[in-house]
Amino acid sequence: TINSSSESKPHHDRLLGGLLKPGFDEDSCVSRYTQSLYRKPSPYKPSSYLVSTLRRYEKLHKRCGPGTEAYKKATKNLGNDDENQERSSDKECGYVVWVATEYGLGNRIISMVSSFLYALLTNRVLLVDQRKDITDLFCQPFPNTSWLLPLDFPLMGQIDSYYKDYSRCYGTMLKNHAINSTTLTPSHLYLHLLHDYRDEDKMFYCEANQGFIKNVPWLVVKSNLYFVPSLWLIPSFQTKLIKLFPQKDTVFHHLSRYLFHPTNQVWDMVTSTYNANLSKADELLGLQIRVFSTPGGYFQHVMDQIVSCTQREKLLPELATTESQVMNTTTRSKKHKAVLVASLHAEYSDELRKMYLERPSLTGEVIEVYQPSGEKVQQTDEKLHDQKALAEIYLLSLTDNIVTTERSTFGFVAHGLGGLKPWILYAPKNGAAPDPPCVRALSMEPCLIRAPLHGCQAKAIKTTPFIRRCENWNLGIKLV
Ligand code: GDP
Repeated sequence: TINSSSESKPHHDRLLGGLLKPGFDEDSCVSRYTQSLYRKPSPYKPSSYLVSTLRRYEKLHKRCGPGTEAYKKATKNLGNDDENQERSSDKECGYVVWVATEYGLGNRIISMVSSFLYALLTNRVLLVDQRKDITDLFCQPFPNTSWLLPLDFPLMGQIDSYYKDYSRCYGTMLKNHAINSTTLTPSHLYLHLLHDYRDEDKMFYCEANQGFIKNVPWLVVKSNLYFVPSLWLIPSFQTKLIKLFPQKDTVFHHLSRYLFHPTNQVWDMVTSTYNANLSKADELLGLQIRVFSTPGGYFQHVMDQIVSCTQREKLLPELATTESQVMNTTTRSKKHKAVLVASLHAEYSDELRKMYLERPSLTGEVIEVYQPSGEKVQQTDEKLHDQKALAEIYLLSLTDNIVTTERSTFGFVAHGLGGLKPWILYAPKNGAAPDPPCVRALSMEPCLIRAPLHGCQAKAIKTTPFIRRCENWNLGIKLV
């Protein structure tokens, strides 16, 4: 059992290589400075430019955040018909408002990270919609200020209805030729960056279009995507991004550990499960099993696929068919391996546990299987359900090796946080386990599942060496 006091292990990297600022109250958010006690030190160090950029961002957020004069000024005419106004000088504050959509936690987290990176690149402040259960999940990331969009934000009553048909949707304005060189800068624009976005919405990612957007004080974003790779393909951003992230595939890893600190309630779930079931093992394997078919549930071909992937990749040992097959006691491994299973369906871990109880493994390794929950169906915005989901994402991120499910954003967050290059289970086709069952990921970064492939970035996608098509998913791109 690990003593949760961060003082007890003086050399652990409680500030994550400078990502985190010291001085936050520790008791109200225990996870912030103690997370590193549960992880191996990350081999990826944030650049000093990233660290200084975050410190600068924190100052900006404090100056522009809710409750400040600057915030009052910026919200004054917002929502009025004659709201057109310039963001007149660099001294005025600009904002990115992240709106919670109906999608699950993984979708929300990857789009929040993307929105934050956009804010960093454009000197804006990120404010997040607090009407869903964000405050039950995460602590405040920025010191002496708040990242929560105030409930009396002037557009609050309307933002839920913003969609492609909204007159201030940027893509719609382009479609209607409502923007030309004489167009006054509006106070707010809605950016539709959900998976069903149109070619015009995707023009947000064009260098030329950023010129107009730059002057708009309020950008309201709905997204369920990890749109970071597309930001890298905007030339003027790329220069800064290379300085921020010399190791290009570390964007999510660093920014997610900077932004997200589970609340004490969630962190209790993480640490109690870890201490009771995982801490004594010699090695941890994470298995994230997401069944996308409807109805979901237990399928033999998925089970077969899990077994064949983990055994083929030597993540789990094969089973002995006869006692004599088991390596003799001198060469036999005494290793205890714990398998943490995250799935809506408890049957997968039940089966796996049974398998390793019934027969010894060929290597003699002892395999223990543990699954914290089996919620059966997704219940996004149920507080306890979401807290369990977040706890499992964090638990998965503490493992040594991880197997995730193709295109699951839940899995993206787990391996990205953990700095782990996952093995990805291919999506089953026609109710059969694919062969090969899984593939090693190109990098630990999430995939931008619906990439803007054909617009202004078409050429750059083909020629930028650190942008690749996602593993077995040609419509997506990722940083490598
Ligand atoms: P995605 O749909 O796989 O991309 O991931 P999301 O996180 O966006 O949405 C899935 C949601 O279903 C999660 O947020 C959880 O609410 C729930 N869910 C899916 N898989 C699991 C799991 O393994 N454990 C728990 N506790 N919840 C899960």
